[in-house]
Parts: sequence; C-alpha cells; structure tokens
Amino acid sequence: MDTRRARGFPSVLAKRGWVPVGFPPLLGMKVYINGKFYSEQNAKVSVFDHGLLYGDGVFEGIRAYYGRVFKLKEHIDRLFHSAKAIMLKLPMTHAKLMEATLETCRRNKLTDGYIRLVVTRGRGTLGLNPNRCSNPQVIIIAGKIQLYPPSLYRKGMEIVTVATTRNHHNAVNPAIKSLNYLNNILAKIEANTAGYEEAIMLNAEGYVAECTGDNIFMLKDGQMFTPPLSSGALHGITRGTAIDLVAELGLPTSEPNMTRYDLYSADECFLTGTGAEIVPVVKIDQRVIGNGKPGPVTKKVVKAYHELTKVSGERIAKR
Ligand code: PMP
Repeated sequence: MDTRRARGFPSVLAKRGWVPVGFPPLLGMKVYINGKFYSEQNAKVSVFDHGLLYGDGVFEGIRAYYGRVFKLKEHIDRLFHSAKAIMLKLPMTHAKLMEATLETCRRNKLTDGYIRLVVTRGRGTLGLNPNRCSNPQVIIIAGKIQLYPPSLYRKGMEIVTVATTRNHHNAVNPAIKSLNYLNNILAKIEANTAGYEEAIMLNAEGYVAECTGDNIFMLKDGQMFTPPLSSGALHGITRGTAIDLVAELGLPTSEPNMTRYDLYSADECFLTGTGAEIVPVVKIDQRVIGNGKPGPVTKKVVKAYHELTKVSGERIAKR
C-alpha cells in the first residue's frame, strides 16, 4: 500500500487519521465489463456514462470466502431490486450475472476477497435524461479487501452520531444501493474528522437508521433490536444473516424505531456489513456500552458468522 500523503491535504484532517493515500499500485486484476475481461489499465467506461456524471446506477459489495461466494443469490436479488427502483433494465439475467461474478473470481484466481458489481446507466448526453442512455455497463471487479485491524474486533469499536441525516425515503430511498453514496460519504467525512471510523446516521425524524456502511444491532435485557427498514436502513444481507444467527441462539430480533437513548442504555451493540462482517461496538457518543468490552452474545454472533462463511456460498470452481 502506498502511504504517501496527498500534497496539499489539510493537516488538521490528517492529524485526525483522515489520511488520503496515493493511487494504489496496479494489482494485475482482470475486470469484467459487459462480457469481456480487461486489464486494470484498460478497464474503462465513457466519461459520458451517467454512472459517472450523475451517480446513476446501482451496485453490490460481495465477499468470497474459502472458494465460495457468500450470499451471492441474495446480493444479485438486491441488485435487481435496486435496478428496478431506478428503472434500469439490467442487460443480463439473474443466472448470467451470478455466473459472470463466479467467472470473474476464477479469472482472478480469487478464493477469498471482495467483489464489486456495478451497473451504470451507460453513456448518454450531458443532460440528465436517462432515456438517452442505451447501454448499461455491467462491471465486475474481484479483488482483495482492506479489513479493519484485528484489534478493533477484539477491543470493539467506538462510534459517534453525525449530523448528516439519512436520506429521506421519498428522496433517494436508502434501500436503493445506488452509485450515489454522497449521503453516506458526507457522514463518513464527519466521522473521520471527529476521529472515528464509523458513524450512526439518524433519519429525518431523529430515529436511528444505520451507519455509513453497516447496519446496527443492540441487545438489551436479553432481547435483540435493530432499526426497521423503514427507518432508512439498507436491507443489509449481513443484517438478515445476523437476525438468523441470533434466532439460532434463541433470541428473536425486534425492529422498533430506536433513539440514541436506546443505544446508550444497551447491554451490547454490534454493526453488520459484508465488508466489516460483525463489529462489536463498545462506545457510542462517548457513552460506554455494557462493560466497555465486546459482549458475550456479540462474540457468539461473530463466531457463528465466521463458521457460516466457511461452509456456505456458491462454489467458485467449476464442478
Ligand atoms: N448500510 C449501508 C449504507 C451499506 O452501504 C451497507 C453495505 N456496506 C450495509 C448497510 C450493510 O449491508 P450488507 O450487509 O448487505 O453488506
């Protein structure tokens, strides 16, 4: 990893851990675009693509573990739902997209890693009108993942609430995993400038929605809670998996509207996301959660999640 500081970057942000790095070196990846594979240098889309000009498109972040792609069907399902919501007709069937994702892993000899599946609206005019874009670009990148350090999982994470409000569902509905992630990016910048990795976003009514790239769970008096999808939480695939794993521990999960007060008085708290997996949270807005260490139920969920990733998923190798 190239750790050179970008020139001219404000030192106040750098001091708070907000350190941009130089352009990462090329990794020799083969990138899928519309049925063909290109080297990283040659994997390009038009500057007139509305994915670039307007963030008009949808995406998925997917993980591969032990030679299998975890929850691939669920991710492609969600991609189709996101695309439908923005009236973007995917140029491939569900089955073909699954196969293209697996083939991209094979071409990159990827058995463990991170897959980014992107569908842009395609090349259009400089105007906003998506009807002028006729060729959605299907892009699949299979590479390594930059994980949080292991100590963070051992000790737990400290997070803060930020002022950036989660998109209202009548604006860009947060359920749509669209290429327009500025709402989350603004919240992430707030977290980073305050010296934190992750932030809680509240919705327009002030209820807890989710974090910038993760869903949130809390345990109180032996009951598990997570904000409802209507709060502005993404239909997280890991959220769904965590609800199932928690149920296997004999704990049902309720989905009430939640306030920051509820989080502060939780016995345990954790975040869920494809990239981050299950992250224990030990402090929220400087309030210590439970005894300030990852709780016993959280630890069980972490373990069960890791076990599941070992045995489930679409096999990458052809049979
Ligand atoms: N919320 C947001 C805003 C996200 O971007 C993500 C994905 N990183 C999640 C929640 C977690 O979703 P999943 O478990 O499907 O990765």
